[in-house]
Amino acid sequence: VENRGFEVFYQPIFSVNENRIVSAEALIRLKDQSIGYVSPEEFIPIAEKNGMIMDIGEFVFESVCRFLHEENLKQYGIRFVEINLSVVQCMQDNLVERLSEIMERYQILSEQINLEITETAAIHTTEVLEENINKLHEKGICFSLDDYGSGYSNTDYLFRFPFHMVKIDKLILWEACKNEKAMIALKNTIQMIKELGLQVVVEGVETAENVHYLTQQHCDFLQGYYYSKPVPESALIEILHQMSA
Ligand code: C2E
Ligand code: CA
Ligand code: CA
Repeated sequence: VENRGFEVFYQPIFSVNENRIVSAEALIRLKDQSIGYVSPEEFIPIAEKNGMIMDIGEFVFESVCRFLHEENLKQYGIRFVEINLSVVQCMQDNLVERLSEIMERYQILSEQINLEITETAAIHTTEVLEENINKLHEKGICFSLDDYGSGYSNTDYLFRFPFHMVKIDKLILWEACKNEKAMIALKNTIQMIKELGLQVVVEGVETAENVHYLTQQHCDFLQGYYYSKPVPESALIEILHQMSA
């Protein structure tokens, strides 16, 4: 954090109804001078253990707010940005105050931010977590349940917190492409989420066949290499420019 080794990349999110990019997910990158890029899958779990996730998370949140403000992303049709929030961050007492202060500083409205959280078995005391989520929700910030269908995700979590969106894990999609039973599970998971009145995002969309199938199933949003890999700020602007041309 001190050496400014982190950078936030953005992966476009496609709206099926509107047939265009309406959002993007902020994904952190760590560039080490000697070893190159380090995957967040590697350093986020470490940062969660040693507490650095607080600084990293705040860096990401502030970067997104600055980007939204400076480039006025609304003009390109970007309605909101998805930010990953570690549950460890959600256990922070002053989380709501810190995030609110940053949003005020950059004049960001609550509808411009969506927070993604993943369930984890490591969290036993959910009191602070629930309080923080409810407070942010009252301020108008929407929540997405990330990585649905993988790991520990279960329906209890889905009902307990005020999610607006559920992101189906990419492994579920990939498995469904290979295996008839997994396809049935995917199809009915989408159906269930929609019947619960929530929006569905599927990530890991890589092929035209994926797009065709998920459109048929009435998914709301699609995200994956088919549209774009996560890219730096300038490249995202470039993509949005090209699309509006
Ligand atoms: P995630 O939140 O599930 O993010 C989606 C991951 O899937 C990203 O990996 C993205 O690059 C990748 N992905 C999306 N579409 C495709 C596709 O079509 N094909 C393939 N092969 N991959 C695809 P990434 O950027 O390496 O991030 C990995 C994980 O690290 C994230 O998974 C998230 O859990 C964590 N992470 C990343 N940035 C942050 C952050 O700012 N804060 C926190 N707390 N966690 C973060
Ligand atoms: Ca995510
Ligand atoms: Ca995921």
